Amino acid sequence: ATFTAAADITQSADPHCIFCKIIAGQIPSRKAYEDEELLAFHDINPWAPVHVLIIPKLHIATMADLAEGHAALLGKMSLLAPRLMRELGVSNGFRTVINTGPDGGQEVYHLHMHVMGGPRPWAKG
Ligand code: ADP
Repeated sequence: ATFTAAADITQSADPHCIFCKIIAGQIPSRKAYEDEELLAFHDINPWAPVHVLIIPKLHIATMADLAEGHAALLGKMSLLAPRLMRELGVSNGFRTVINTGPDGGQEVYHLHMHVMGGPRPWAKG
């Protein structure tokens, strides 16, 4: 299974998940990119001049919940990061972060890649 079909995404949606609500358009967001499998939007509480979150539309709670069938999805998230930074005018490098679980500082339990760029200093932690 590749878990990318629209039906898989709909079936995976968690009604209590804030990022699923953003995907469904029930909560507004400032979108930076969208396709059938991925959404990227600007973080509401940015740590950097440019701070976007790349998320799969499929509800996967954490990186620890990833399965073999999610490999292509993760690859696409990784490929989107540099493309988005380029499009958003970030030309001197960026930081990517995925927080996992309580000790990883994860607050929203829908897998997301933070992508942060722009002139330093801004780094948190
Ligand atoms: P942390 O809050 O420690 O960064 P996470 O890695 O779970 O934990 O990140 C969740 C991110 O989601 C935070 O950076 C937060 O600002 C962002 N966020 C929460 N709600 C929204 C929202 N409605 N729109 C955009 N970003 C959001």
